[in-house]
Amino acid sequence: MAPKILTTLFKRKRKENDPYFRPKCGSPNAIGISDSTCEVNGDPFNGWKLPIPPPEQRALKLGARQCNRQQASRFFQLPIEVRTLIYIELMGNRSVHIEHAWMLPSPFRPKPKREGERWDWWHGVCQRSGRFVDDRCWDRRDERYANRFEGLKSAPAGTKLGGVEWLRCCQIGYEEALTVLYGTNVFVLRIGLDTPFIMSRLLSPACSALITSMDISFDFWYKLDQRPEAAAWATVYPALFDLFEHYFCNVHSLRLTMHMPAWEKVGGTINDGKIDEILAPLERLAQSRNWTRLKLCVPIDWLPCLTGRAKKQNRWELAMTEWYEHKTFVD
Ligand SMILES: [Zn+2]
Repeated sequence: MAPKILTTLFKRKRKENDPYFRPKCGSPNAIGISDSTCEVNGDPFNGWKLPIPPPEQRALKLGARQCNRQQASRFFQLPIEVRTLIYIELMGNRSVHIEHAWMLPSPFRPKPKREGERWDWWHGVCQRSGRFVDDRCWDRRDERYANRFEGLKSAPAGTKLGGVEWLRCCQIGYEEALTVLYGTNVFVLRIGLDTPFIMSRLLSPACSALITSMDISFDFWYKLDQRPEAAAWATVYPALFDLFEHYFCNVHSLRLTMHMPAWEKVGGTINDGKIDEILAPLERLAQSRNWTRLKLCVPIDWLPCLTGRAKKQNRWELAMTEWYEHKTFVD
């Protein structure tokens, strides 16, 4: 959950009557980070407030809801080991782009009652598994384009997890598939610093605690003379690491691709104190658990000032990404 300090920050000027309004996605001012930008049981068509579930719904305990034990089902007569293999085949062991964002409706669902953008979930199985995550391979806009101009009636094969709709109507299946769904996939988040904060506000803690692997890519960027952005970054950057320390606490493989602030534009180099400050939240996170992988990927111009620090320790790795060219530098 976002620290309370964020509540008082990022006050935005409201433009409620602006028909062209869209919440910012590439800025730490984004909706969903501070408490003031969220509304319990809010309107999904209000772009100014992220609708979030009430605390009691998020705290839902598994097994607390009545469910049909499915005793007549052939599927549930299979041993749990076999069912688990089926769950993995359907919905596990993949890299999955996931976002909850302000977007147009899916073209593949029955015609929505209301047109226009709304807060909505989208997911897509990564078509470049193992590659770098700078750009999405497929998203809601691609789905709408393909539907409109290529006549596509459903998502292309392999771009969605299987069985997700079934999980909505079978509680026993949902409960036993959760560890596969959340525990075996790599969740790939991008666009803005807000994305992991939004996930932490929507997912039940029971589910987020099952997530083991994430790839996160931020393209937020600013220059030092952009004071409000610099102040926002200074607050949101450590809060992001806090989120992993206290909320996504079972993640043991994390790749953070960050477009670091343009400090090098001022004064040529960054002093040691500033580097300590930048790396402190990462170091704290690195020491908080045993990592199978903790990787920080930065643009090439940040490598010289971080390489020395990366070599002095073995808790986290450093890698390079060339943001604008979307080149791939893989493990
Ligand atoms: Zn992808």
